[in-house]
Amino acid sequence: MTGSRCDVLIIGAGPTGLVLAGLLAQRGVDVVVLERRECSRQHSRAIGLHPPALVVLTELGLAEAAVTAGVQVRSGTGWSRGRLLGELSFATAWPERPYVLTLPQRRTEALLTERLAQLAPGALRFGSEVIAVRAADDHVQVRARTVSSDDVIEWSARVVVGADGPHSTVRRSAGLAESLTRSPDCYLMGDFADPHRDPVAAVHLEPAGVVESFPLPEGMRRWVVHTSRAPRPEDPAILASLIRNRIGTAPDPATATMVSAFGVRRRLAAGLVVGSAAIIGDAAHEISPIGGQGMTLGWLDAQALAPLILQSLASRIPLQKLPATEHFERRRISAARAAARQAEFNMRLGRPMSITRARARDVLLRAALSTPARGALARAFTMRRALAG
Ligand SMILES: Cc1cc2nc3c(=O)[nH]c(=O)nc-3n(C[C@H](O)[C@H](O)[C@H](O)COP(=O)(O)OP(=O)(O)OC[C@H]3O[C@@H](n4cnc5c(N)ncnc54)[C@H](O)[C@@H]3O)c2cc1C
Repeated sequence: MTGSRCDVLIIGAGPTGLVLAGLLAQRGVDVVVLERRECSRQHSRAIGLHPPALVVLTELGLAEAAVTAGVQVRSGTGWSRGRLLGELSFATAWPERPYVLTLPQRRTEALLTERLAQLAPGALRFGSEVIAVRAADDHVQVRARTVSSDDVIEWSARVVVGADGPHSTVRRSAGLAESLTRSPDCYLMGDFADPHRDPVAAVHLEPAGVVESFPLPEGMRRWVVHTSRAPRPEDPAILASLIRNRIGTAPDPATATMVSAFGVRRRLAAGLVVGSAAIIGDAAHEISPIGGQGMTLGWLDAQALAPLILQSLASRIPLQKLPATEHFERRRISAARAAARQAEFNMRLGRPMSITRARARDVLLRAALSTPARGALARAFTMRRALAG
């Protein structure tokens, strides 16, 4: 067994870990990121970058690169049984960035990885799986296994951050309690060519369940459909036929570049900091992907935690004992709860329902989309409130 040390050790090179590492490296912190994958991720889950996410990317000097690579979605339309319910513009919700940017997660991660390599060459260690974490007040011991050789390295760091996703080893090792709820909802999603390059997002609230679609770069479009309890095979033809049955038109299955089924869990940690260890991102809160807020939420955690880490390193006071830490935990847990409620609202609107209930829902939505209430909807869908936590 060999030993290594650093000031800040981040577990997980998903979008959250990469953002935190970039923010700290930018301030000259000695940071290392351990990632069990042996290479970059190819699968793209998150596609939506809300305006607060662009605020974080601006801090990292990456906003313009993301905007150049992505698609600016400036409005969305709501449909029901072939009729337009209304259109929601994002123009006034966030005037400085009047859009939600779409960019596949693998490309966002590539931008973040490149930036980290510029700021702290060699800081990102792929193929290194953390198997145990022991948090004391003034330092944290972390045991990591090298995936290719099974060698074990014992790390010692002044601060450890678990950005290691929903099944977080750091959360479990630190004994941070969580609540977990499984939702009965299942979805099938896929990316297909969009010959029309339609720049508008569309949500079709059909009695059989929602069909959503979002523009993507390079003439592609992400389709998502509710599929009731049974998970569907990940087949582009099945997805295209579900879409056609509900809205009368469908993308060409031969152009699919990805099809994937997903279920929904809601997981919220009761606390985020123990001694000199913290958890952020999906390690701290897993929410429904419907509404696409998870990644932005994790970045806002990272943005709020970075100054606390700097303070802890400078003062030698453990994270948990800093006066500002309680406020950080309260604010980030409350932001996660608000995002989870928003996601639940989105899912409820799109669940299968009888024609009678669908009619009543449509009346309410049509009214909301044609009155000043649409301003509140636009703010909710662009995560306007998330920045304040
Ligand atoms: C279908 C779908 C669509 C989504 N769409 C959106 C969207 O449009 N917008 C949005 O904001 N969010 C969206 N999300 C949510 C978003 O993908 C997640 O919130 C985001 O990936 C969380 O990032 P993270 O870095 O916190 O965790 P993760 O992405 O889970 O990354 C954790 C990393 O830690 C690594 N790791 C785990 N354990 C260890 C260990 N023991 N040792 C070393 N490394 C470890 C993993 O390999 C992984 O790379 C979507 C999610 C899904 C499933």
